[in-house]
Order: sequence, then C-alpha cells, then structure tokens
Amino acid sequence: MNTILPWQQPIWDRLQQQIAQQRIPHAMLLHGPAGTGKAVLATLLAQRLLCTTPSPSSYACGYCPSCKLLAAATHPDLITLQPEEGKAVLAVDQVRSMVEEFAFTPQIAQRKVVLLQPAESMNNNAANSLLKTLEEPPGEAVIILLSHTPARLLPTIRSRCQQFAFPAPTHAESIDWLQQQITTEDDPQQVLQLAPGAPLKALSLSEPALLQHHQQMGQELLDLLTGRADPVRVAYRWNDKKLDPTMTLRWLQQWITQLLKREAQGDQLTALMQCLQTVDHQRLFHLYDTVTHALSLSTTPVNKELLFDGILLEWVRLRS
Ligand SMILES: [Zn+2]
Repeated sequence: MNTILPWQQPIWDRLQQQIAQQRIPHAMLLHGPAGTGKAVLATLLAQRLLCTTPSPSSYACGYCPSCKLLAAATHPDLITLQPEEGKAVLAVDQVRSMVEEFAFTPQIAQRKVVLLQPAESMNNNAANSLLKTLEEPPGEAVIILLSHTPARLLPTIRSRCQQFAFPAPTHAESIDWLQQQITTEDDPQQVLQLAPGAPLKALSLSEPALLQHHQQMGQELLDLLTGRADPVRVAYRWNDKKLDPTMTLRWLQQWITQLLKREAQGDQLTALMQCLQTVDHQRLFHLYDTVTHALSLSTTPVNKELLFDGILLEWVRLRS
C-alpha cells in the first residue's frame, strides 16, 4: 500500500507539517485499534524519513538509492523490531542489539529509523532497555512505536513519546475502502463483518472458507433461536478440525457485542436483533462473559465441542 488511508489523512498532514518545520519528534507512539492500518502509515513515514529526495507530494520518491534499498528490504538505516515468529514477547536481547546498532551513524539516509511493533510486546526488561534511547536518540534518529493497547505500556515509555491517537474508520469509510480493495465478487459488508471496525484485518481474513463459515454461523445462530437447528449438531460443526476455535469464539463475541450495542449491520444481524428484541440484556452480558471465558481456554487442550455445546445451549435459552 503506497498511499495513506483516508481516515489517517489528518495525522499524516500533521506529521508532514512537523517534518517541513524540522520538528520531527524523535520518539513517537502511534496508537489505535488493531486492524485499522497504523503500520501502513508508519511504513510510509519511515520511507519518507529515509528518502534522500522526497517528492513534494510528501511521500518518499521511490527512486533514490535509499528508496531502492527500502524496496529490497535491505536498508541499513531502518531497524524493524517485532517478536520472533510464533512468540508474543519481544526479547530483551532484540531491543539491546537494536540500541547498539542504533548508536552508529546512518550509512545512507540522513537518520536512522526504528519501527517497533507492537510496543506492548515488550516486557519490563525490554522496555527498560529502550528508555534511555527514547530519551536521547542519537543524532537525527527517529523511533516509531506502534501499539493497539497503549494502556499496557510502562508510563515511562508513554511519557517519552509524542503520542498520535489513530481514529478507527467509520463504517462508511471502511466499506468505501474495502470496495476498492476487493477484487472478487465478495460483498464488502459481509467482508467487514469478519472484523467490524477493522477493514485491513477484515480484508486479510476474507478467504472463501472463512467467509462461508462466518455466513453459516450467522444462519445457525438464527436457526437456533427459531428452533430450526440443534445446538449439539452446530457445536459438532464448529468443532471441525479445519476451523479455528479462537476465530469462531471471537466472531461469536463480536455478534453479541453488536447485539448489545444494537448495531444492526447486514441482514443476519438485523434478523438476530429482531429475534432477540425482548431479551433481557443481563442474559446477553452473561453469555458474553461465558464466551470470553471460553476464549481464554480456546488454545488449551480443553474439549472444544463441549465448550461450544455449553455456549450454544445458553444461546438457545435466550429466547425462553
Ligand atoms: Zn527516495
């Protein structure tokens, strides 16, 4: 993606103004909801800061030696930090070696740039190793931290960064954007339901099998309420080895959240909402808690079919 996302334009403009006035913050914290494209802006910003002949349009030129190295992912002045594959925590050694490398003068660009995401993957040791560098980055260096949940960062990390709060796109902005990205016959409304409020995440999930499972789940939830489906059989299908139980539970949680917020988007949700018009919200809240608890067990060896059974029986009882 080589242009800024429409809902991030105000932040991009503010950053460009700061660059033009040579008031680039040395430590930035970009925070906002997951799946809304913070990394897109951060990457464009890093490219802009490393480009040696930036274009008047405020993007990197794409042609200078610096841009070519970026395109080949071999730029010596860009350091990207994230947890190693399959791990949730950023190792303290990764931060320490970045800090060492960071102290050298830039080789090609005017400055070194660090992209660290997600910032909440740093444990206290890793965060403490970063503090001094955040306070006094060498030369013109810029450190960009990305975070979905800034509340989980050490206050000392937050206070050393200039913070940029990223807005979530509106429903209309998400649909517009998805419409331009989707190359298949898929309905943008349906795709967005895979991750409401997070169009980039939704697009990344929009493969036929997942879309079909999501659609079928919506129908099953409705059929369960109208007595046309059997919870035990639905639980059996949800437990199919090809399906990810965590994803199934997250979607169920999203449906319940939307029902609680009375956000009727799409035919299925509207039908579910009508069916549950008179239901006591306390019972929906209780079901939400049940699903949240199940989510915390979804990566353990616990019997998922039984987990789904319990949830679906509670779902069916909503109407009684
Ligand atoms: Zn360039």
